[in-house]
Amino acid sequence: MGNAPRVLTGLFGHETNTFSQLPTTLAHFEGYLLAFGDDIPATVEGSVIEPAGVEEAATELGWELVRSVVAWTTPSGRVARDAWDTCAGHALKTAAEAGHLDGVLFSMHGAMAAVDHDDAEGEFLEQLRGVIGPDVPVAITLDLHANVTDRMARHADIICAYRTYPHIDQVATAKRAAGILDRAMKGEVRPVSHIARRDLLGGLDSGRTTVDNPMTELLSRAEKLETEDDDVLLISVQAGFCPADLDEAGPTVVVCGDGRDARFQAIAETYMDHAWETRHYDSNEYLDVAEAMQRLGQLSDGEGPVVIADGSDNPGSGAYGDSTFLLDGMIKAGLENAAFGTICDPDAAAQLVAAGEGATTTVRLGGKVDPTYGPPIDITGEVVTVTDGSYLALGPRWGGTIQHLGPTAVLRIGGVDVIVASKRVQCTELETFTHAGIDPREKDVVAVKSIHHFRAAYAPIARHVLIVDSGALATKDFGKLPYKNLRRPIFPLDLD
Ligand SMILES: [Zn+2]
Repeated sequence: MGNAPRVLTGLFGHETNTFSQLPTTLAHFEGYLLAFGDDIPATVEGSVIEPAGVEEAATELGWELVRSVVAWTTPSGRVARDAWDTCAGHALKTAAEAGHLDGVLFSMHGAMAAVDHDDAEGEFLEQLRGVIGPDVPVAITLDLHANVTDRMARHADIICAYRTYPHIDQVATAKRAAGILDRAMKGEVRPVSHIARRDLLGGLDSGRTTVDNPMTELLSRAEKLETEDDDVLLISVQAGFCPADLDEAGPTVVVCGDGRDARFQAIAETYMDHAWETRHYDSNEYLDVAEAMQRLGQLSDGEGPVVIADGSDNPGSGAYGDSTFLLDGMIKAGLENAAFGTICDPDAAAQLVAAGEGATTTVRLGGKVDPTYGPPIDITGEVVTVTDGSYLALGPRWGGTIQHLGPTAVLRIGGVDVIVASKRVQCTELETFTHAGIDPREKDVVAVKSIHHFRAAYAPIARHVLIVDSGALATKDFGKLPYKNLRRPIFPLDLD
């Protein structure tokens, strides 16, 4: 490779709901996505996640990659010590043993909390700096729902979040960061992060980019300014992640300027002014379960299902995925030709798998982690299908990766086919249903545990979309969450 720039890379990503009582252990990463060193290219090949973009960028730009770890799993509670020590530890060890490094391009979620670190990404970056020194340019890519701390901005010269929600631009995000890093390594530019925030926990329409809103306004301003102003290298807009009991949680804007300059800070502040002024904007209408059942009867007929999305039990926001509030409502409403994805309940799944296809069985379903958020229901149904729960995702969100629900059964309760899974996976892919013999296109009603990512695959097939807040752990009603470390006063908890 000769003089090829040597770039340390990796992915250690987790969106931590600090109010979840489920620890996120190494086993969770092993069960979702975990690879080390030279195993990484084959693991990410053909996928749409950032490391695939890093591999492409390295080929295009002539870099030599020093690969450390690729680790991701479903949002849940704080990252346990075994996972932190293994993943962060392996990345830091790789950095220490790498010899000369010209740059770092590392992917993180940006809302990770570990058992020992509230600001896990800031901690990781600080430790990494301790290994590589102050002068090696560090670029990080982030989820658009990152909670970016001052410490992260201090140690990362280039911060680059997704610009789509649903997040379908992960490869492009990695390449955008790679382009700036490449210029920095050549000495053409000297990137510096300038961060701004307000007393905001939420805002920017939760970062959605499927409608015109305050988020898309800032993103289009950012793209325009990057084109027009040579010194503005990159502007990263983060909507934040709310169920995180972190001092600095909430939306941020990071302007990556060529050098440190008050002008760049002023741009970041102007963008955050817009976030503050538009803080009340929300493009979703949130229905409770009764309202959703009522609304179903009022919707016109047409092609495709009505898709009901319960964001409050979305494993993608760290909820338990075993809440029964919506399922119970659908059963009691006597819905016909409906499907439900998913109830995560390993005990019930094991019982149904053991009973076998065709069996009629009574089972205690869901609500087992914390019944406050949707208690167990005792229900009799027919086991229609049994699967191993593994399938290749084909949608724009997770296409090219294998999803693992663990032992899975379809339980038919009246007119509702329920996917009973053993692992918590946000229902964003049609394959969650099709792998178990259910075609969501043929259903009248399809319920998914997701707040927005489902739209990537489900909006094209849906006749209507209804958003439900059934009152599970990831409720929009943040006043119900016991924040202790969050800065106060803050919107919407204290300020209007
Ligand atoms: Zn996100």
